Amino acid sequence: MPSSFQEMWAELLPVGRHAGSGGYRRFAWTSADTECRDWFREQAAARGLDVETDRNGNQWAWLGDPSAGDAVVTGSHLDSVPDGGAFDGPLGVVSAFAALDELAARGVRPSRPVAVVNFGDEEGARFGLACAGSRLTAGQLTPERAAALRDADGVTLTQAMERAGHDPEAIGPDDERLARIGVFVELHVEQGRHLAGTGSPVGVASAIWPHGRWRFDFRGEANHAGTTRMQDRHDPMPAYAATMLAARERAAAAGARATFGKLLVEPNGVNAVPSLVRAWLDARAADEETLALLLGTIEDAAREHAAREGVEVGLERESFTPVVDFAPALRDELVRLLAARRPYEVPVLPTGAGHDAGILAAKVPTAMLFVRNPTGVSHSPAEHAREDDCVAGVEALADVLEGLACR
Ligand SMILES: [Zn+2]
Repeated sequence: MPSSFQEMWAELLPVGRHAGSGGYRRFAWTSADTECRDWFREQAAARGLDVETDRNGNQWAWLGDPSAGDAVVTGSHLDSVPDGGAFDGPLGVVSAFAALDELAARGVRPSRPVAVVNFGDEEGARFGLACAGSRLTAGQLTPERAAALRDADGVTLTQAMERAGHDPEAIGPDDERLARIGVFVELHVEQGRHLAGTGSPVGVASAIWPHGRWRFDFRGEANHAGTTRMQDRHDPMPAYAATMLAARERAAAAGARATFGKLLVEPNGVNAVPSLVRAWLDARAADEETLALLLGTIEDAAREHAAREGVEVGLERESFTPVVDFAPALRDELVRLLAARRPYEVPVLPTGAGHDAGILAAKVPTAMLFVRNPTGVSHSPAEHAREDDCVAGVEALADVLEGLACR
């Protein structure tokens, strides 16, 4: 008898949990990640599914013959951000196994191959690049660039894979594997509050907002905090601070998001005017035009405030992900399948968060289901979804799998 949703959830709960923060530290290719991978293998075995780990370290559990093609694939990831919550990722994998059990309980048999997937290194917490497993597979990350990625201790991705028992020799695009997939449906906890306060525990994704990361270098002149008169300073800190406030105001006005969450200050002394403030901006908006306009106004603010303080400012784009519109026909079909069996409306909502589904969408028809998050909090130990909503998510995923794979 395979474990129930609640049993699976309880088994995973202690893995990689930090005693101090209560958050999860399941970083790619660490012992916590290995424990999660072992758990995945056990769950697959308990259901008689064939497990394989692909060249890029993603795990697949197959019901039916993968080589038959046109497979219906579902799943998510088991790794976490630093001190992340229990739901981001694991909810999609646990729900996938539970949805297969639900199909069996209903006595329906898939006529297409079905797979549960655990994508490796989705959060990029250790090597700095999100969705490394799916990006490698989809050819959006070259093996050369992946091999050069290093963690904070200087360990390369290649070394980390080797130490965890995965052969890194063959990493790279995997068109053959992608060609087996007919559709991919990822269930995920909502990272926002669209569903909170509505009567709908489950929604369908419309799109992933375009998003990117930009580095601002404000360069001034280090000097003594006591002897340098205020009017004589070339201080990059107020230029940065005014830029940050302007970014917040303009993002709010545009209905977009702008976050300065990482800062490096030199020399970083309490009694020294800084010589450098390096600040990373994460910006996102519903469409690329709004995002470009927002970026333009933040850049203007940075130049204006830098000039006022007598400092230089440089700007570099470090990454950019264009808008992802999930396949409209598949999205509509999900809404139809779900609405047919539910008394409540099934909302279609966009998200500002990146996902493996966003990477795969470039190669195969892809859709996402979101499970209500009462506070919207994510990437935090406080991330939560109610148990009855999680169960509603499993039901919804089972309905989708039945509708797509069992006709
Ligand atoms: Zn996630």
